[in-house]
Amino acid sequence: MTTAEKTLFTVLRAETPPVPALPPVGQFIGGKFVPSTSSETADVVNPATEGILMQVPAGTVEDVDAAVAAAVAAKAAWAATTPRDRSAVLLKIADVIEANRETFETLEAANTGKPAAVAEDDISSAIDTFRFSAGAARAYSTLGADDYAENHTSVIHREPVGVVGVITPWNYPLLMAAWKIAPVLGAGNTLVLKPSEQTPLTTLKLAELIAAEVPAGVINIVTGPGRVVGNRLSEHPGVDLVAITGSVGSGQKVAASAAASVKRVHLELGGKAPFVVFDDADLEAAAKGVRSAGFWNGGQECGAACRVLVHESVAEKFTELLVREISDITIGAPGAGEAEIGSMISKAHYERVLAALDDVRRDGLTIAVGGNAIDGPGYFIEPTVVTKVPAGAPITSNEIFGPVVSVETFSTDEEAVTRANETIYGLAASVWTRDSARSLTVPRKLDFGTVWVNSHLVIATEMPWGGFKGSGYGRDLSSYALDDFSRTKHVMYNRC
Ligand code: NAD
Repeated sequence: MTTAEKTLFTVLRAETPPVPALPPVGQFIGGKFVPSTSSETADVVNPATEGILMQVPAGTVEDVDAAVAAAVAAKAAWAATTPRDRSAVLLKIADVIEANRETFETLEAANTGKPAAVAEDDISSAIDTFRFSAGAARAYSTLGADDYAENHTSVIHREPVGVVGVITPWNYPLLMAAWKIAPVLGAGNTLVLKPSEQTPLTTLKLAELIAAEVPAGVINIVTGPGRVVGNRLSEHPGVDLVAITGSVGSGQKVAASAAASVKRVHLELGGKAPFVVFDDADLEAAAKGVRSAGFWNGGQECGAACRVLVHESVAEKFTELLVREISDITIGAPGAGEAEIGSMISKAHYERVLAALDDVRRDGLTIAVGGNAIDGPGYFIEPTVVTKVPAGAPITSNEIFGPVVSVETFSTDEEAVTRANETIYGLAASVWTRDSARSLTVPRKLDFGTVWVNSHLVIATEMPWGGFKGSGYGRDLSSYALDDFSRTKHVMYNRC
């Protein structure tokens, strides 16, 4: 049953939230759930209701060591499988997720507070990632053998890296796990994955449901705090590569811990995506673009269109259109109908976003719409547009990671490019223009791993995703992810 409150925004509440099917309790090591070496647990909360969903182990260094030992034991046999065999396993995983789609969607929505439509998109994309990697792993090849030194023939082999440590964030729990598990396994590695402390449930559910499909030890899951479990994965000498999707600060810590054993590091970190609107743009389309790409997943999205730069001559018109779009957004708890945005992930994050809004007020900026917390239960915040933002204001560079979009103006194309690039981040950006020359030249000057033209946040599994500068290095999705989780070996044969 659903009730609707009317503030400026429509807020939908589910009086009887759907009850998700919870995963087993324990660490998933060597193909089965086993007790943690610690009796300490962490609460997993439904942020839309503030109710506790279950408790999971607050894992330990010993748990990680056991999981790495299982991954090491499984590595030679898994590396020796053919691409066809690995592909068959990835296809089976995709089928299992698809067959249990409703279970995963309900669990993901309950654990994150995201609307059903976002959870549905997450699970569809996770399935697609496994299917893509299943195909890509079979199509993956190297240069043919040839002679590059007299009487010598060179062959390049692609080899798995070995054991990969994976650390995932809370914003797309199963999807971010899929973005790593699929190429890591496709390239012939085994793995130990640590989900976010806030959102381990769908990853554990996946382990439960695919346990019979994947050889024991190939996938291991250890829950627990980043500073303990994540750090141990980063420093463990038995882990050959560590991949994290998370904040810049966590990425820096992972890279520093990994340095001692000189292991490879794959970093997908934060973002602050500029959304550049030129004077010739279709302003209505651009305003709708911010609505969908700035507020998808409540703005808890590393590529979110959170920083609008609009040409001064169209700024007033564009802002009017944008405020109208955003005022129309429906907020709601999972299971409460057609909500566009859900809750923040946790009390701590809700307080961080509200503190950022306090800073906005303290800086004397204009909040054109939104800007307030919504009464609980649940960690809901109004979709917010901050306007008339001067160049260099903190909101133009700090990642808020919530339903907050800022609007700045610029005068020339050159200024637009310079200002858009004035950020430590380099993950994603977009350009809105109907001028073909501009649409070709501006993206080349932007220092971001993905640049959209007249679009934002459209992801294709076949195309690489990843950042420059403070957003890290390493690529998810596409066959570039297989590159990142492989190593090349050159074997040279003397024919004389
Ligand atoms: P976070 O950095 O707080 O946590 C991410 C993961 O790192 C968690 O599993 C956490 O436990 C772990 N961690 C924390 N400290 C660690 C340490 N010292 N050693 C090892 N692991 C540690 O990030 P979050 O709040 O879960 O997610 C939001 C962040 O993730 C945002 O900055 C967002 O931009 C980024 N993100 C990036 C992408 C991308 O594709 N580039 C995708 C999603 C999210």
